[in-house]
Amino acid sequence: MRLMVTGGAGFIGSAVVRRAIERGDDVLNVDKLTYAANPENVAMVADNARYQFAQEDICDFAAMARLMNEFKPDAVMNLAAETHVDRSIDGPGAFIQTNIVGTYSLLEAARGYKASGHAPKDFRFHHISTDEVYGSLGPTGEFTETSPYQPNSPYSAAKASSDMLARAWRETFDLPVIVTNCSNNYGPYQFPEKLIPVVIIAALEGRDIPIYGKGDNIRDWLHVEDHAEALLLAAREGKPGETYNIGGRAERTNLDLVHMICEVLDEELKASPHAPHKGLIKFVTDRPGHDHRYAINCDKIERELGWTPAHTIEEGMRDTVKWYLGNRDWWEKIRQDGFDVAKRQGLKSG
Ligand code: NAD
Repeated sequence: MRLMVTGGAGFIGSAVVRRAIERGDDVLNVDKLTYAANPENVAMVADNARYQFAQEDICDFAAMARLMNEFKPDAVMNLAAETHVDRSIDGPGAFIQTNIVGTYSLLEAARGYKASGHAPKDFRFHHISTDEVYGSLGPTGEFTETSPYQPNSPYSAAKASSDMLARAWRETFDLPVIVTNCSNNYGPYQFPEKLIPVVIIAALEGRDIPIYGKGDNIRDWLHVEDHAEALLLAAREGKPGETYNIGGRAERTNLDLVHMICEVLDEELKASPHAPHKGLIKFVTDRPGHDHRYAINCDKIERELGWTPAHTIEEGMRDTVKWYLGNRDWWEKIRQDGFDVAKRQGLKSG
């Protein structure tokens, strides 16, 4: 397939790009290269003849229209977004701009591309979203594709808005839109402001490991490579007009997850002066509007598209911890570029 992937220098987008190139697709990666992007995430495919890169902002309608008309994609996969909930609380503006206005601009460019007659007959627009649009669950129940939208953070509200735009462009303009909503991802190349790399790096350096509230918030975790596989399947075989939920059937409290990471670190770094690493855990003031529990029912994508995750959380988390231990250069460079999560969260550093 010819895939135009937006946000392909970020965490999940780069996993999609690497996998797509590996399986023989042609890829145009369109990324603004914000702070969250890292060209190293796609360095291994950069010289491949089937890979192209364009540094552009998805809010730039003219650029999106031009790229679609030149590249002639079979599918547009929209992963470009502002994604960090804490940053959306500090400053929601960029989230409104990229996640809502940017999606609008892409939808309009795709509408023009389809109307131009240059698009293939079964062209599709795949919008990638999150389970956070559904809000928070109590101790039981799961989100399904028909659960009502009840976003609670500026991030999830902006993503929910973009999902609604995608839906409306399907209903009103007959754009062949597919939407997927996925649970929390983990794996290599995740920007070190997100929970899992924050924990690993703090533990390695003997700093406080911050956990919001009592650590009893529950998330469902999926390995990023399983998500990438599901996305490529949905882009190719999903039915326009449909939504598919994607999840790992791996619910864990944040505290259990951090304990799991600490145990892997204890085993991997037996001689560390910071072991047992659980001793570094520090509970910090909870995030405002913090959703208590997310759980995804992914029966539909399993049944209709035949997708199942290949990684268990135990094995996937062990590999992820080892990846961060073995790729210090990757995250230390980001640190030198001025990123310091401890400073942002007011914790002991060093
Ligand atoms: P990320 O923050 O790691 O990467 C986002 C990428 O988008 C970056 O490369 C950035 O440069 C690019 N980008 C941002 N604004 C842009 C703009 N205006 N124009 C072009 N490019 C721009 O994010 P991620 O974790 O890889 O998430 C990717 C997508 O998947 C997002 O849409 C997110 O909502 C969704 N999602 C993420 C998770 C998760 O756990 N990380 C779970 C479900 C869904």
